[in-house]
Order: sequence, then C-alpha cells, then structure tokens
Amino acid sequence: MSDFTIIYGSMFSGKTTRLIEEYNNSPLPDTEKIAIKPLLDNRYAAHRISSHGGLQLPGHRVSKAEEIYPICNDGIKEVYIDEIQFLGKSIPDVVLGILMQGIKVVASGLDRDYLGRPFGEMPRLIRMANQKIQLQAKCFVCGKAAHYTYRTSGGEDLVLVGHTDMYESRCKTHWEEGMRHPLPEG
Ligand SMILES: [Zn+2]
Repeated sequence: MSDFTIIYGSMFSGKTTRLIEEYNNSPLPDTEKIAIKPLLDNRYAAHRISSHGGLQLPGHRVSKAEEIYPICNDGIKEVYIDEIQFLGKSIPDVVLGILMQGIKVVASGLDRDYLGRPFGEMPRLIRMANQKIQLQAKCFVCGKAAHYTYRTSGGEDLVLVGHTDMYESRCKTHWEEGMRHPLPEG
C-alpha cells in the first residue's frame, strides 16, 4: 500500500499551489507521474492545472473518478489530484484501488462547502490519508486564520466554480456573521 497525502483547507488557502509544489519536488521524471483535475472546473486552460499564484502543471481532465484507472498506465508511480472534492462518491474506492497498485497519491480539496458542511467525500479521504496537510487562508475581514469559505453571491448552487470573485475565506466568527446577515443579491 502506497502513501496517500491529502492537502485541505478553505478557498484561497494555497491548496493547488502546494499540490504543484509537491509534484515539482518529487524526484521522478514527468513520465512517471500524472496530474488530474475534475472536468467541471474550467476556470483556467483546459489541460493545465493552475494556481491563483500563477504556477502551472499539465493535467488530465476526468469527469468521474473511475476515469482515473485507465490513465494510470504502466510506469506511473505517482498521481496528483486537484479539487478532489468534486470527484463524487466513488473517489475513496478509486484512491484505494490506486494505492493498492503501489501508486502514491497526493490530492488537494476543499474540506467544507460555503455552507460550512463537509464537502462530498472529503471527511473519508482525510481519514484515509496517512499524511494530512491542513492549510489556512487569511480572513478577508480581520486577517486572522481562516478555515471557512464564504460566498458573497450566486444563489444556492453548490458547485459554482470559475467565479473566485464570489468567494472569500473567513474565520469562523466572520463566516458566521456573514451567514446571519447575507448581502442582498446583485
Ligand atoms: Zn475574521
């Protein structure tokens, strides 16, 4: 069984930057490691994984977790998955399957949605991981450590990507304050 590292936190906590750094710090050649991102997130170029800070990485796009298996060809030793919270209910089993093949997995994801609820399979993935890296953002209101994502507009659609201007990272106090007094739409 190989190692599984999970990087998690709110939006703007630097998860993708950290994932790209982990990829770049690995001594393996690019032919032995792959990066994967859910297809629904099209906020940046289609076949690249990009951080807010401008770091980039070539990445495969998958629309569901099972599509990861055929990408893991012979010779692949490490798999890097960005935005893993979007990959659905079967992602923990797929990760387990990959680990059983002797492939190392590093993944990053949002641990809570904007309503403060656990995001998808993230709690299970965090429990499974033998290395857990929790990152923190800065609260948009007070500058203290932020573990929550606050949405400033956009209705009730849970998966709203490509609009980072609609989100803020916030500490628990200011997230709760925002949820009690939501801004008027528009
Ligand atoms: Zn705050």
